[in-house]
Amino acid sequence: MADKEKTFQFVIVGGGIAGVTCVEQLSSQLPSADVALITAGPHIKAVTNYKQVSKTLEEFDVEEQPSSVLEEKFPNLTVIHSAVRSLNTNSHTVETVDGRVFGYKNLCICSGARPKLLAQDNPYVLGIRDTDSAQEFQKRLSKAQRIVIVGNGGIALELVYEVEGCEVIWAVKDKAIGNTFFDAGAAQFLIPSLEAEKPEAAAPCKRPRYTTEEPASGAAQTFTADRTSRRHGSDPTEPGSALGPDWHEGIVLQGVEQGSRRVSVEYQCEVEKVFTSEELLNSPQQTLRPESVGSWPVYIQLTNGKTFGCDFVVSATGVMPNTEPFLHGNAFAIADDGGLQVDDHMMTSEPNVYAAGDVCTACWEHSPLWQQMRLWTQARQMGWYASRCMAARVLSEPIELDFCFELFSHVTKFFNYKVVLLGKFNGQGLGPDHELLVRCTKGHEYVKVVLSHGRMVGAVLIGETDLEETFENLILNQMDLTAYGEELLNPNIDIEDYFD
Ligand SMILES: Cc1cc2nc3c(=O)[nH]c(=O)nc-3n(C[C@H](O)[C@H](O)[C@H](O)COP(=O)(O)OP(=O)(O)OC[C@H]3O[C@@H](n4cnc5c(N)ncnc54)[C@H](O)[C@@H]3O)c2cc1C
Repeated sequence: MADKEKTFQFVIVGGGIAGVTCVEQLSSQLPSADVALITAGPHIKAVTNYKQVSKTLEEFDVEEQPSSVLEEKFPNLTVIHSAVRSLNTNSHTVETVDGRVFGYKNLCICSGARPKLLAQDNPYVLGIRDTDSAQEFQKRLSKAQRIVIVGNGGIALELVYEVEGCEVIWAVKDKAIGNTFFDAGAAQFLIPSLEAEKPEAAAPCKRPRYTTEEPASGAAQTFTADRTSRRHGSDPTEPGSALGPDWHEGIVLQGVEQGSRRVSVEYQCEVEKVFTSEELLNSPQQTLRPESVGSWPVYIQLTNGKTFGCDFVVSATGVMPNTEPFLHGNAFAIADDGGLQVDDHMMTSEPNVYAAGDVCTACWEHSPLWQQMRLWTQARQMGWYASRCMAARVLSEPIELDFCFELFSHVTKFFNYKVVLLGKFNGQGLGPDHELLVRCTKGHEYVKVVLSHGRMVGAVLIGETDLEETFENLILNQMDLTAYGEELLNPNIDIEDYFD
């Protein structure tokens, strides 16, 4: 190993939201501290237009910026453009792929995660992670007639809605779309958006008790839509077009056909195998063969027995924390999901090594209303809190777990609807011990409240419901709502006045 070039008081690895927020907060809190940011690419991801919407809800944009912007802002900061190849927690050093060695007093690993790919090294299987992969997707899509999207999380949801001019087969392992974020009821509220261009006349209907109406097991549903007006973004090659929360906005997701959308959902199935046309032709199992063998470059066989040919497959089946370069020779505790375990001070099991964002798994005893989800909001919160924990340790000050980890909250957009998720919005971990209240106005709003022992513990708000602040308060103060019963969602009652 080469000689140590320099020892920094703080070394942060990763120029994503978690790493950059950590650097910014550290540099503001300890302006004279020697801080290094080691990151693979020339650009960093910065949070802009940050807005605290309520006690826990926040909104912001994510922008790719040259790292020089950070160095100009913080004279104490050195940006090192290389990837970390290895870490030696005994000697407190990291080595970069270009052979340089840096010492640290405190290290924060914010190396993010990468998409789990269905098939490694298959040129017809794409994962979407960053601006480059999003542009590659766009390029391939412009020549595509049919694609298969596998996965049921946020990325898959956004893609099926945005892609036009190309047939989409959407394979989901669950009984309903968007299982990561919604239940079957919310999925059914959203599904008409895949077929209809014009919202239907709003007719309020109150569904006080919740029922799960799901498509039959193994069933396929097809939706078609023609959208006459299309939103065109700016040229994706323009500087500043970033993979942010609206990452697809600057990118035209258009297939080879014009203006039509056709999405078929294959429920409750996973991928059995990905074939080339040659492999399929030589397959001894005749049943695997779709009618048009040979006309598609790639075929995908699902566990429901169906095989589809397509131009390419998008693998949107979740992420794997980027831990590899840090593990060899060290004794990190690793969580079941592959993340570096961190405690309530964002500290890993190795001394003086912290972690934040997608790479880590929160292993402290969670508040009953919070869960980790690998999202921008949590990457920002963890990066910010990790820097405060590191600073507190250096200053020998006590620090308590930040309030943002009290209540899970996320605001986003799916199928052009505003979506707010609060607390145990899907009854996560509650078992049968909870009750649901639902109000739904087709094409307008979907409101679901999760109650446990008469107290509100979670909510899903789709559309412009204006209920987020009131519900956030009701969840945080754990008021007994038994007396209100179903009136809680009566559309004729102004709930804000009710609880004033
Ligand atoms: C297509 C897509 C859409 C998404 N949409 C949303 C959304 O709408 N809303 C939402 O909340 N979340 C969304 N997410 C999730 C969100 O992107 C992540 O939760 C968030 O970016 C995590 O931030 P991070 O800083 O932990 O990691 P990242 O943003 O992944 O940053 C990791 C950084 O570490 C660097 N790095 C990695 N390995 C090394 C190494 N060995 N040495 C040095 N540097 C290294 C990388 O270059 C990168 O700069 C989306 C994710 C994807 C892929």
